[in-house]
Amino acid sequence: MDAVYAPDPTRDETYFFDDGDCTFLVGGVLFKLHKTILFRDPSSMFRNLFQDAKGKPSDAIPLFDTADDMRALCWSLYAFPSEIYQLALSPGDVDVRKHLRIVDMAQKYLLPQYESLGWKCLQAVPGAIPAYLDRCSEDDLVYSHELAIRWQSSGAWDGAADLVIFSIKNNLLEQVEDKWVQRLARGDEQVTFNRALTTGETYDRRRLQGQVYLEARKLLFLQRFVFSPSQPLNLRFNLSPNQFLRLLVGHSMLTNVLAAVRSAIRLKVPRRTGCDLVRHPQCEKVFNQLSWGELERDPEMVFARARSAGTGYSCITQHLDNILPKEAELAEYFLSSATGYTISHENPPM
Ligand SMILES: [Zn+2]
Repeated sequence: MDAVYAPDPTRDETYFFDDGDCTFLVGGVLFKLHKTILFRDPSSMFRNLFQDAKGKPSDAIPLFDTADDMRALCWSLYAFPSEIYQLALSPGDVDVRKHLRIVDMAQKYLLPQYESLGWKCLQAVPGAIPAYLDRCSEDDLVYSHELAIRWQSSGAWDGAADLVIFSIKNNLLEQVEDKWVQRLARGDEQVTFNRALTTGETYDRRRLQGQVYLEARKLLFLQRFVFSPSQPLNLRFNLSPNQFLRLLVGHSMLTNVLAAVRSAIRLKVPRRTGCDLVRHPQCEKVFNQLSWGELERDPEMVFARARSAGTGYSCITQHLDNILPKEAELAEYFLSSATGYTISHENPPM
């Protein structure tokens, strides 16, 4: 947080009021505000902040937030009633990023009135959050993910909280991760395998890491990007040496497992007790019609499709349980694979 102590802080263009009576230094930017505004919410933590602040009353109080966070909060604190009314009338393109920041800052500084306003803005347009996650920058995905991790730890619904808000908070993490993976899958250039994986590693999110590795592996089947044996394969993925190793080892192991599945599906489906000779030909027929075309490229999807087509035929469901690895374990080939491997030479083969 070096920026907080920047030697030459700049004044914020909007929220530096000459007649303000308190100054904050946030991310290298000075905000001069009015205590009456900051104290308006009765539980406001800013009341204590001034009591506890050391130094002269005119000194800037450092806050460990970003200037963008502070601007978002100031917008909410200083918005004119007509501005809010207009927003309620025609929310238009909701600035999700701003309102997420407002909610986060309002929670941090105990400003429930402003937190509530932030939530209302976020809910004003249905689907605003997923739409935002679908096109925001990767920095904003990282920010939303961090926020979602914090919100996730706030526990179960206690019956008193607003259920809609609770479910937004609770679903945000999976929403961010799913969108990130979808965007990687469709080749969105704003997102990268490396940052998605690094974020998954930072918060120990195996779900995200597994999905990203599976998506990276799909590219090996789908898209030609190797044009010469001397071309570094990792150019396409731009992973860290360890991530790249995990991708390669996981890919090799999964390919081997899927080769065994490929042989097993050629076998006849065994007749189980409970299925008779009259009914069983139908089991065989349904099993033989299962489509395995994309088994190597997208095992998750192919397994799910086979299981759903086999529902109601116990011979098939049991046979599938025997020959298919569990869907939930697919990601494990990437995540536990590298544990037995270390990169021992200085220049790993990238
Ligand atoms: Zn049968």
